[in-house]
Amino acid sequence: MAAQSTFQVDKRDVSFVLYEFLKADAELKKLPPFSGMSKNDFDMVVNEAAKMAVNTVAPVNAVCDRSPVQFDKGKVTTPAELKAAYKAYCEGGWLGLTGPSDFGGQDLPGVIGLATHEFFMGACCAFTMYGGLTAAASRLVFHYGTGEMKKTYLEKMYSGQWQGTMCLTEAGAGSAVGDLKTTAKKSGDHYLISGQKIFISAGEHDMCENFVHLVLARIEGAPKGMKGVSLFLVPKYLVKGDGSVGAYNDVQCVGIEHKMGIKGSATCTLSFGEEGKCQGFLIGEEHRGIQYMFLMMNEARIGVGIQGTGIAAAAYLEALRYANERIQGTDIEQFKNVDAPRVPIAKHPDVRRMLWTQKAYVEGCRALLYQTALWADMAQFHPDEDERNKAMGMLELMTPICKAYCTDTGFKVTELAIQTFGGYGYCQEYPVEQYMRDIKIASIYEGTNGIQAMDLLGRKVSMKGGMYLMTFLNDLNIFCDQHAGHPVLGNFVKNLTETKDKLAGVTMHFGGLGMSGDQLYPIYHAAPYLAFFGDVVIGWLLLRMAVVAQEKLDRLCADNCCTDDDTKRKLCADNSEAKFYDGKVRAAKFFISQLMPRVLGYEQAMMSGDRSGLDVAP
Ligand SMILES: Cc1cc2nc3c(=O)[nH]c(=O)nc-3n(C[C@H](O)[C@H](O)[C@H](O)COP(=O)(O)OP(=O)(O)OC[C@H]3O[C@@H](n4cnc5c(N)ncnc54)[C@H](O)[C@@H]3O)c2cc1C
Repeated sequence: MAAQSTFQVDKRDVSFVLYEFLKADAELKKLPPFSGMSKNDFDMVVNEAAKMAVNTVAPVNAVCDRSPVQFDKGKVTTPAELKAAYKAYCEGGWLGLTGPSDFGGQDLPGVIGLATHEFFMGACCAFTMYGGLTAAASRLVFHYGTGEMKKTYLEKMYSGQWQGTMCLTEAGAGSAVGDLKTTAKKSGDHYLISGQKIFISAGEHDMCENFVHLVLARIEGAPKGMKGVSLFLVPKYLVKGDGSVGAYNDVQCVGIEHKMGIKGSATCTLSFGEEGKCQGFLIGEEHRGIQYMFLMMNEARIGVGIQGTGIAAAAYLEALRYANERIQGTDIEQFKNVDAPRVPIAKHPDVRRMLWTQKAYVEGCRALLYQTALWADMAQFHPDEDERNKAMGMLELMTPICKAYCTDTGFKVTELAIQTFGGYGYCQEYPVEQYMRDIKIASIYEGTNGIQAMDLLGRKVSMKGGMYLMTFLNDLNIFCDQHAGHPVLGNFVKNLTETKDKLAGVTMHFGGLGMSGDQLYPIYHAAPYLAFFGDVVIGWLLLRMAVVAQEKLDRLCADNCCTDDDTKRKLCADNSEAKFYDGKVRAAKFFISQLMPRVLGYEQAMMSGDRSGLDVAP
């Protein structure tokens, strides 16, 4: 049995974002597949997920880290505690939460699935990847596979009996997927696959009876590059007519990686067709493999974003608890008094700065990810075409920000959580050092954050003639105009307006350079541009949430007859709801005044015209 963990979830903020801010229950009611579902249904799922994450998944986190997966003669062994927890997870139906009920899923909306995923990712990222990979592969088979494929594979995948994987990367084809060398040769009703894939998560282990690898390969004679790549379903064991596992299909695990983090997740090198007998089954049409993968990419990238925010949220809550319990030093205002009482470190201004930074990033990113997942649901199911198109535009624009900004700031949050702990944060006695190691991979896989930045600046910003960007800026303008005179938040809204105008200015400047033939200079700045864009988005979301929270706080103050600052402060100290809403308002103010100004430095760098780092490598 794994030891109990200290993992916590922030159900109050999750509930605020879902219902008080996004009004997800009402929005989902408008979408036919979810019109029969209510807030009660969603709450039940979210609450059960929180319990499962805290009681079953979180206790295996340290086990995965201290007893990593082992490789021996083609077999990968996972720790017994991980196996037991995974069995409970699969039996509980968590793997197929948003999958189709025709194949054993539960038909829930993506935004609710994402909320549960935040808990599981925070509880144990390495664990959650096994199910996440299978769910992602299942979605691909569901959308593009033949009827026969769906019938043969999906139920076994959604139940967790069979593991799904995504096999893109090769030694010479990482970010440049189109350079892959794995081949496929037509042979009757199937193709013979030959090649080696590296870094394949969940590529081999002992928690399932079969593997369903989705493999990108080039059919003999196909064009070079992305356009010549096709997608194949390659089971480790062929499936018999009655659906049971049959003959070995010449897919071998030849090794696993020894990594900085997520050590419970098996990262495998897979060899396909060493004996020339590996059968692959074409998914969709020949040469359209990359397109199919790309169509699933928005979801997968939001999934990696929630990995960043889930782990960051867990780290922040650990740091917050520690800061309130750890006694060290005296109040700064009494530093000359040797008899002054010793105080919790949360009293110290620098620790408060670290805690507010963590809170603002976590809550801002949570709002961004949930909002984007809701847009994804709307883009797919809204009955009104205009609404579908608008949601699709926001989804396209925000996806690289969800992936890169939430994982970069998530890493920063875990680093600040360690700093909040001081020396203990660096030691294994507390979980924050593991969180920092586990989260790092999220900025690398599923398209590195550098590639996300190029996607935002090089593709998304100019998509549909810049229409998606215009829609976003228009929404932002409406918000800024509406709330410029807000009695509490007005000055912060004005700050956001100015920063948003600077973002628009940089975008125009880069657009002009691009049109005059200079693509390199803008692309050189793609990463800071994404960070700039991300700060504007997060500032906007935090302020929108603060407007809602301030209204609720005012109501609570009125109900409790708090008319002056002292009685209001006392209410915020004594009443947990008042404290919560006050925290939302403060997080927004803190972000706008303390964190967002860093983009002014980015703007200066981007407008400088300096190319000293661009023309040659050091
Ligand atoms: C733990 C782990 C799990 C993984 N799981 C999977 C999996 O399940 N399936 C799978 O297929 N793959 C998986 N990967 C692979 C992962 O997706 C790749 O590592 C990633 O795509 C980067 O490729 P690379 O490692 O070859 O780095 P490279 O592509 O060599 O990149 C190195 C650096 O160069 C930059 N760079 C590269 N090309 C460009 C460019 N054109 N412009 C600007 N910058 C560029 C990158 O941003 C990066 O900073 C996993 C990797 C790890 C470590």
